[in-house]
Amino acid sequence: MAQKNPSFVLKSPGNVVFEDRPIPELKSEYDVLVKPKWTGICGSDVHYWVEGRIGHFVVEAPMVLGHESAGIVTSVGKNVKTLKVGDRVAMEPGVPCRRCVRCKEGKYNLCPDMAFAATPPYDGTLAGYYSLPEDYCYKLPENMSLEEGALIEPTAVAVHISKQASIRPGDSVVVFGAGPVGLLCCAVAKAYGAMKVVTVDINEERLQFAMKYAATHSFRSQRESAEESAKRLIRECELGAGADVIIDASGAEVCIQTAIHALRTGGTYVQGGMGKPDITFPIMSMCAKELNVKGSFRYGPGDYQTAVDLVATGRISVKELITGKVKFEDAESAFKDVKGGKGIKILIEGPADSK
Ligand SMILES: [Zn+2]
Ligand SMILES: [Zn+2]
Repeated sequence: MAQKNPSFVLKSPGNVVFEDRPIPELKSEYDVLVKPKWTGICGSDVHYWVEGRIGHFVVEAPMVLGHESAGIVTSVGKNVKTLKVGDRVAMEPGVPCRRCVRCKEGKYNLCPDMAFAATPPYDGTLAGYYSLPEDYCYKLPENMSLEEGALIEPTAVAVHISKQASIRPGDSVVVFGAGPVGLLCCAVAKAYGAMKVVTVDINEERLQFAMKYAATHSFRSQRESAEESAKRLIRECELGAGADVIIDASGAEVCIQTAIHALRTGGTYVQGGMGKPDITFPIMSMCAKELNVKGSFRYGPGDYQTAVDLVATGRISVKELITGKVKFEDAESAFKDVKGGKGIKILIEGPADSK
């Protein structure tokens, strides 16, 4: 009965329960134990909750949900040098093997043996305690709240996408999709010196929010062909010969097609959103314009620290993305709200301290 590690567990699709689990042990002397204080819910968490799987990742055993967290260090291994008990940290939720070719070449996000929170079979962070290596915990500066700390995960996703896009000062950047990651891509692009940041969505409310938040121009998609849409986008947003960089954070087929048509020759396209696994792709246009077409997966070396620094220095702001906060006990209702498309980012509080 000495467990006291309340955890929000997905048993099977649509079936979640609260369980008291053993407090995790430090797996090495380089690990720390963290008490997650705030956790954001991401599309992938909701996807597992509804479907029990994402692609070939299938939930086969009960799994704790959540991976966008910040918390307080409660114990440290003997060899930990940079953190102490009581430190407030953003928690990078995926730990690679550190030994494979991809890890050694500095692309640890591509490690085939990545242990990532709330990706089966690994438990997530919606629990009383979570253990991590010290170098996957990023100390929050005084001026940053733990709520902002929970937003570092999607910010790091946007930082990685922007890195893949090689955004340069003066660039015109178009971002399809004005959900959390799309909005953060707009903010990062602006911080990196993009002259024009165009937000694209079908929802007028989201576009208005993006304009207040970080975008300089907005474009509402309509029912028209991708080529027509691209022409209208270039005309309405005065993109001249086409955009320098286009990021897709929507996953929608027509957006991806429009993006390829709206890029200038030699422009860069980055796929940042997951959608249908297969689509019709304007490969002729890609080839003839000699586009750089890239994927983006999670975040790699330096991305988490950059995300913390961008927020800490005020170059980007994440507070206004937090549209709801719920107690740990109400985690399921938060999942329902995210599924229903309510708000932008909903945070779940860590379990109350048991006396
Ligand atoms: Zn996420
Ligand atoms: Zn590896």
